[in-house]
Amino acid sequence: MIRTKKDYIESLKKQKLNVYYKGERVEDVTTHPALIPHINAAAMTYELALRPENEDLMTAASHLTGKKINRFTHIHQSVDDLLKKVLMLRLISHETGSCYQRCVGFDAMNTLYMTTYEIDAAHKTKYFSRFVEFLKMVQEENFMVVGGMTDPKGDRSKRPSEQSDPDLFVHIVEKREDGIVIRGAKAHMTGSVNSHYILIMPTQNMAKGDEAYAVAAAIPLNTPGITLIFGRQSNEERKLEEGIDAGNKEFGVVGGEALIIFDDVFVPWDRVFMCGEIDFSGLLVERFATLHRQNYGGCKGGVSDTIIGATALAAQYQGTANASHIKDKLIEMMHLTETVYAGSVACSAMGSKTKSGAFYPDPLLANCTKHNITRNIYEISRLAHDIAGGIMATLPFDQDLRSPETGKHVRKYLAGVEGVPVESRMKILRLIENMTGGTCLVESMHGAGPPQSQRVMYQRLGNLPQKIKWAKALARINE
Ligand code: SF4
Ligand code: FE
Repeated sequence: MIRTKKDYIESLKKQKLNVYYKGERVEDVTTHPALIPHINAAAMTYELALRPENEDLMTAASHLTGKKINRFTHIHQSVDDLLKKVLMLRLISHETGSCYQRCVGFDAMNTLYMTTYEIDAAHKTKYFSRFVEFLKMVQEENFMVVGGMTDPKGDRSKRPSEQSDPDLFVHIVEKREDGIVIRGAKAHMTGSVNSHYILIMPTQNMAKGDEAYAVAAAIPLNTPGITLIFGRQSNEERKLEEGIDAGNKEFGVVGGEALIIFDDVFVPWDRVFMCGEIDFSGLLVERFATLHRQNYGGCKGGVSDTIIGATALAAQYQGTANASHIKDKLIEMMHLTETVYAGSVACSAMGSKTKSGAFYPDPLLANCTKHNITRNIYEISRLAHDIAGGIMATLPFDQDLRSPETGKHVRKYLAGVEGVPVESRMKILRLIENMTGGTCLVESMHGAGPPQSQRVMYQRLGNLPQKIKWAKALARINE
């Protein structure tokens, strides 16, 4: 069983995944400087759970075995569990300032738990009991699971079975007595190079003819036929350097995403949880999206807290902290942060029990939360840039600070408030740069689905006809 960061790293070493970075095979993900920060961040989901003060938030009693488990492997049994998830995410973000990746698999497991139960009731299949066995193993071993939903999708105007290349959506190429063979790819897979299993799911609602694409299954990431290509990030080569320029060297910028290719990968039947049930693919996608959108006020709320702290500190170092417009901008940043957090708390508090017994957040409020993230994080970052000043974008290299020729000039001309070391000023500005640019912002926009996917949910769940009725009644219109 994986308990500590050390156990986690050893487990990753043993797996020997087929990972590529910049065109080259990575022999050991745990020693590659570009991947270490992501491993450090994910390791916090293990380490923080061991601290007694976090026990209530970060562990739970398994409803299957009664044993104490890491909350990231738990199935929500109550509204209280939904709330604890959000509180836990904000807590971890304060320590990492970056994505710790494990929520995607957490949400995928909850999605499959509630949905396989309903598929079985409708189709007389046996997916739920298989899934429960898989879940017990994950809980027992404390594995990290990737939730694999997004397919590359090719021509977005065409359905999976209409694509000229059938592999642009993951699909079943063979059904055998002992299992299925799948082919295709999953894109933007957060934390995948440092996880143990992937839980693939259909990426969208499927129609007649798409049966081979309605597939859900759990696959160890070291299964033959799987290749992971790590994605490029903003300023990622700074992770390879010594010194302060990486900003958040220990935990990185975002989660560490990869493109995962499945080249005729075999999955035994006991790990297949959906196989052709097109009528449940839309519900499955909606549930996964809701469960992941629930998170963002917790995780990004916590990240924003650290951005606010860094920005306030930069202002103190520069002597602007007492200006009223700076104080007001910091207040605005706090307001935007608490607004997204309130959304996560609200959709959890309004959660309800599904037929399987697992609890599910309110979908409209979860979508509202994620939609606010796609805006508020940009505004929080804009205000951080405003307060930090142009120096954040023009700072010399860390090497200039350390060079005997240039160091004296950097120290003299980058001095702020007396007594504040120039290193401290540079470190905090680099941290803000790291947390508010490029890949971080795009992750807030597209992680858990782009803004349009949330607007579609408003269209579906917003109940416009009822709103019109209320207006008519008030205006005394009787036609
Ligand atoms: Fe978890 Fe947030 Fe990362 Fe998503 S972006 S995996 S919710 S930490
Ligand atoms: Fe994300």
